[in-house]
Amino acid sequence: AHQATDKNGILEKRKAHFGGNLKLSYSDPVMLMRGWKHHLFDEWGRPYLDAYNNVPHVGHAHPRIQAVVADQLLRMNSNTRYLHPAQTAFADKLMSKLPPELSVCWFLNSGTEANELALRLARAASGAKGMVTPNHGYHGNTTGAIDISAYKFNAKGGVGQPDWVELVDIPDDYRGIFGRDDPKRGGKYAAQVDQAIAALADRGHRPAGFIAETFPSVGGQIIPPDGYLKGVYERIRAAGGICIADEVQTGLGRLGEHYFAFEAQGVVPDIVVLGKPIGNGHPLGVLITTPEIAAAFAKGPEFFSTFGGSTLSCRVGKTVLDIVDDEGLMQNAAKMGAMLMSGLKNISEDHDIVGDVRGMGLFVGVELVTDRATKAPATEQCSYVLNRMREERILMGREGPDDNILKIRPPLSVDAEGIEMLLDRLDAVLGETGSKP
Ligand code: PMP
Repeated sequence: AHQATDKNGILEKRKAHFGGNLKLSYSDPVMLMRGWKHHLFDEWGRPYLDAYNNVPHVGHAHPRIQAVVADQLLRMNSNTRYLHPAQTAFADKLMSKLPPELSVCWFLNSGTEANELALRLARAASGAKGMVTPNHGYHGNTTGAIDISAYKFNAKGGVGQPDWVELVDIPDDYRGIFGRDDPKRGGKYAAQVDQAIAALADRGHRPAGFIAETFPSVGGQIIPPDGYLKGVYERIRAAGGICIADEVQTGLGRLGEHYFAFEAQGVVPDIVVLGKPIGNGHPLGVLITTPEIAAAFAKGPEFFSTFGGSTLSCRVGKTVLDIVDDEGLMQNAAKMGAMLMSGLKNISEDHDIVGDVRGMGLFVGVELVTDRATKAPATEQCSYVLNRMREERILMGREGPDDNILKIRPPLSVDAEGIEMLLDRLDAVLGETGSKP
């Protein structure tokens, strides 16, 4: 009778018909039926603060996205083999946010597909196959994307590291081998690329490129030290490789100060990959590159994606970028991010379990440790905090190799009330972990 609210029935059916490695969040899973801005509502209409999802970049159920989807589906929806002004309007809007040398784009259906294409472009432009990537990254779910995703190929039951892939450390200056007390740490992490290129050469591979999240999110909400990517890019380019910036989680104003994370590192990548937020829920990925790299790829067979760059997708993508501008969401990310960071730093003074608070704009991580001196990861406590915050109806995530970093990544519409609520509840829940000094 009460089908929509029959959570147990849905769970049973899910177990029967869905793959066993399709993960559910929380020990008591959440069922979500409606959304509005940075709020979600469950099967009983109870509200949750969404402090986790980046796909609803401009907010859940945005009226302008609804309107543009309805309007375009009433007219028609077709592909890039026909002309439509929405295609070039989306491209123009994107280019207005990027450095001039990044002027050729491809529209795809996901971040995964955009990273797959990035691999093909890097190989075409370099004539090589080797890839250098950090040791805890994720770039997508396909065969090719998994091959460059250490987080997955190195996991239990994973396919293992391909011989054409070489790993470097995540430039983590809290936990890694070069810490914040070392002013040269950015350059030292970057220098690991020399060893990676040499290791590839030993196995008969030249580097086609380097791929990383500009700020590693999957790696633990890391803000790389200054000079890191400059050092990496110099080395990769000197060896004939292409520098790929996965900006799926960091792009489009989330950082507040910068539209893209690569700007914070003072570099211009050869390829930028966008996903998740660019469609605000509509499946959309974008790759942007230089005319030279695009020309190398264009020597090959036709590229076509049935749905990539559809009329609908182009109108949605352009509208998302327009909303970020029209509603001042990048400025809001800066303001709310600053409030969040200072609140978290205050909270950390009362809770020894907080080892580190780091972030920029609304890209924030809170690393939990059982001991501030040894930095032993508080993995179980992190899970406890997440589940308790869910009971308090605040959705957050966790990241990092030890799953001990609370991830706070709300839609950019989040307001001061939401930030205050999160800080208030987190302070209380951290107190329950029994670590009060
Ligand atoms: N790159 C990064 C950094 C991601 O976080 C993700 C998704 N978690 C992807 C690529 C893959 O995107 P999608 O799942 O949309 O294919």
